[in-house]
Amino acid sequence: YPIIIPRNDHSLSRQNLSPNAVKVLYRLNKAGYDAYLVGGCIRDHLIDIEPKDFDVVTNATPEEVNNLFSNSRLIGRRFRLVHVTFGREIIEVSTFRASASHDEESSKPQESLKGKDSARSSHGIVLRDNVYGKIEEDAERRDFTFNALYYNVKDFSIHDYCGGLADIENKQIRIIGDARQRYQEDPVRMLRAIRFAGKLGFDIEEATAAPIKEMAHLLDHIPPARLFEEVLKLLGSGNGVKTFHLLRQYGLFRYLFPDTEALLQSGWKRDDIDPAAFIMQGLINTDNRIQSGQSTAPYFLYAVLLWPSVTLRHEEFQAQGMPATPALHQAASMVLDNQVAATAIPRRFSTPMREIWDMQFRLPKRYGKRAFMLLQHPRFRAAFDFLLIRELSGTELDGLGAWWEAFQHGDENEQRELIKSID
Ligand code: ATP
Ligand code: MG
Repeated sequence: YPIIIPRNDHSLSRQNLSPNAVKVLYRLNKAGYDAYLVGGCIRDHLIDIEPKDFDVVTNATPEEVNNLFSNSRLIGRRFRLVHVTFGREIIEVSTFRASASHDEESSKPQESLKGKDSARSSHGIVLRDNVYGKIEEDAERRDFTFNALYYNVKDFSIHDYCGGLADIENKQIRIIGDARQRYQEDPVRMLRAIRFAGKLGFDIEEATAAPIKEMAHLLDHIPPARLFEEVLKLLGSGNGVKTFHLLRQYGLFRYLFPDTEALLQSGWKRDDIDPAAFIMQGLINTDNRIQSGQSTAPYFLYAVLLWPSVTLRHEEFQAQGMPATPALHQAASMVLDNQVAATAIPRRFSTPMREIWDMQFRLPKRYGKRAFMLLQHPRFRAAFDFLLIRELSGTELDGLGAWWEAFQHGDENEQRELIKSID
């Protein structure tokens, strides 16, 4: 290693790359630094998927990179890096990193390491990882072999340090190094393995998959805000159904949605809701939308995943004698509070989630001017889509979805007739 694949022996060409990323590479090269494209952009290209973003690595320190560009800024703490901004596109530039375990395990400080700033929690989780190193070391601390492929714009070659090309060929997700140790350092890697399995349709190689079930509990020590970001990527990328099954199969889902997992396991059902069918329908609907290029609001999926728990709590509060509306608000608060302990939910998400839930009880009440007012509600569209998912998953609502479908698209006369028809 590395295996070097010359320009003519791989399918990646400069035309496939973001011109801005290429600009960054040339600028760094010109200033005398090594610079490569790495990670998801190379992997996705070789698999024929449109890459989301372009990541650059270099032997220049973040400060040196930042000094080289006027349109850049230093960010991050756990990983310090530089964002170079071109309009709406951000090119992320990071410095070759050595594995944090190097200086952590020796007792005396290693003065030779540049930026030797790393730290671990009492659970062995890497908190900061800012120890710079050589490209070989940088490759070894990446998560999966297919994420350690480097594209060199100087001669258009790909440098493969960990056998990633062979793994792409064989459709394998393989962790670099010892799986247990790598999950211990960063348990989110377990979620990333599942994410790539869902997204790429690859298999998780045996030794990479083996410790996941047993180590899943380490996710309890990950900050909820980081898990929230991961959930959005896991379930909101167009392969939610597959990813959801994998997460449950590997025992990871309960650390992301504890109440939902408990409820699914209990087999709880009611005439008006079948939680498993409802969640599945919500995931199918979201996948279809994303795959056909429609937008989806991330709070929508969260509202779906927590709705069964909300309906259960709602029933419990009403059984204690609380009227329906306050009982719903209590139920929503309780479910959200519990969820926030697992994956943080920012308020810009929880507010529309509550509105969607609330609207489920308002959409049946259409008399007088109400229907027109509901149509104007900023959350009408999402709440209506949510209602359709409930119906599709077997909830009998007396044709409520079809009624609203007609009402939305009808002219004034038709709308008046529709309102009359419910009196
Ligand atoms: P995508 O951007 O499509 O979600 P990606 O592989 O680019 O996938 P990023 O989160 O953008 O994922 O990370 C960029 C690269 O950084 C990865 O390809 C991998 O090499 C490395 N990396 C990211 N997260 C980790 C991690 N938790 N442990 C080790 N390496 C990581
Ligand atoms: Mg990426």
